[in-house]
Amino acid sequence: MEALTAKEQQFMNFLKEQNAYKEALTTLQWDSHTQIPRGGVDNRSEVVGFLSGKLQQSETSDRMKEYLDDMKATSENGLIRQVVEECERVYEKSRKIPNKTYQEYVTLCSKAEAVWEEARKKNEFSLFEPYLSRIVEYNQEFAELWGYEGNRYNALLDNNEPGITVETLDVVFPALRKSLTSLIEQVKASPVKADVSLLKSPFPIERQKALSESILEMIGYRFENGRLDTSAHPYSFAINPNDVRLSTKYIEDDFRSSLFSSVHEGGHALYEQNIGRNLMGTPLSAASSMGMHESQSLYWEMFVTADRGFWETNYDWFRSFAPDHFKSVSLDDFYVALHDVKPSLIRIEADPLTYSMHIMLRYELEKALLHGDVKAKELPHVWNELMQEYLGVVPGNNRDGVLQDIHWSSGDFGYFPSYTLGYVYAAQLHAAMKQEVMFENCLQTNDFLSIRQWFTEHVHKHGKTKQPLELLKEVTSEELNPDYLVQYLTKKYGEIYQF
Ligand code: ZN
Repeated sequence: MEALTAKEQQFMNFLKEQNAYKEALTTLQWDSHTQIPRGGVDNRSEVVGFLSGKLQQSETSDRMKEYLDDMKATSENGLIRQVVEECERVYEKSRKIPNKTYQEYVTLCSKAEAVWEEARKKNEFSLFEPYLSRIVEYNQEFAELWGYEGNRYNALLDNNEPGITVETLDVVFPALRKSLTSLIEQVKASPVKADVSLLKSPFPIERQKALSESILEMIGYRFENGRLDTSAHPYSFAINPNDVRLSTKYIEDDFRSSLFSSVHEGGHALYEQNIGRNLMGTPLSAASSMGMHESQSLYWEMFVTADRGFWETNYDWFRSFAPDHFKSVSLDDFYVALHDVKPSLIRIEADPLTYSMHIMLRYELEKALLHGDVKAKELPHVWNELMQEYLGVVPGNNRDGVLQDIHWSSGDFGYFPSYTLGYVYAAQLHAAMKQEVMFENCLQTNDFLSIRQWFTEHVHKHGKTKQPLELLKEVTSEELNPDYLVQYLTKKYGEIYQF
């Protein structure tokens, strides 16, 4: 970075204070997921609340406003100007919501999470419904305060996926749904059947752990800048680019859980470990968007380590960790079993073909809730109707239906679309990458460095200096285009299921 003026340096130091809160919060989050004793949980949420409050106060302080005005008037440094833009976005958004309203909302959500857990356990949606109603009302109010063009839901999409609007999703999602429905039908009609039972065999946790560590090293995750732990839900914790930790989940008789979540979280971590060091300590040292983040995790999980070429090269390596059972499983049967497709009730257990159906269902419901077209109490009914329409399966209870995800109880509206956008971005980037990198050769020789370097050059290093659609356009010379995902899935599943 060019030499900074004294004032610019002061501004950067001010941001470092905020960054210190962020790093502390992420470290506590890692600890809460992987290490904390049960007795420490209550105290912990108080500390997290306190630090988050301090961070928010600083981000929206008069001092911040002074710095922003001053920097806008005086700084000619390109990076500083981008940092100012990002800080101003956060400042403006937060300032539009009265402090008292925000505090009430945070309290409501933390109660709602506990109520949701209980409602889910008891399978009683009516317990959760009044909380959900209130959360929706708050989000409607926030959207009005933030402002938006077109659909009210755009205000919430902007928090996760800047540049993506309802107007775009309402074209992209139905087209994608049509193609996925056809693919799912073709798999169903195929004479080839995946036998998932072949994959289930007692696999000692220690060996699974060694397998996860080995595959993470292969794809270029740097253990000197990270570590692998265990948690109920696999996660990645980016404290800063020099310290990006992972957690995975081991299931003794199903190695897929730990192996593919390690790779998935490893993909998130590769992004964070390779963000440009010039951005460190600024709010731009982060991913472009939630969807772009997801594109990187899905890329390594689905496009690399679930590719036929990867297993042709590495099946023997895998079997050197695996129990003897796998000696009698052929590569063909193993590979087909990894690609089982089955419409199911639970989103997080869904395969790559049916997964996006779950996401589109939530997208339609969130949009309708925000718009006031559907009331919280009508959700179970509408949920089941859409499940029938999208996937042809209907839950027998709300626990496996509308109560399955934590997102709405935490107030996370506008987040779900990022998951499917992650697939769409990944496929589009994959097509662009293949024009410059000999992908098939890389898989034959386990040359993951060339692939990782391409992504670092085009995606990772830029951090949050580019918005997702801007980045996509620059790298692929195209607007958002779901056809790449459809083509990729059609080819892959067509080969496996012979259609
Ligand atoms: Zn992810």
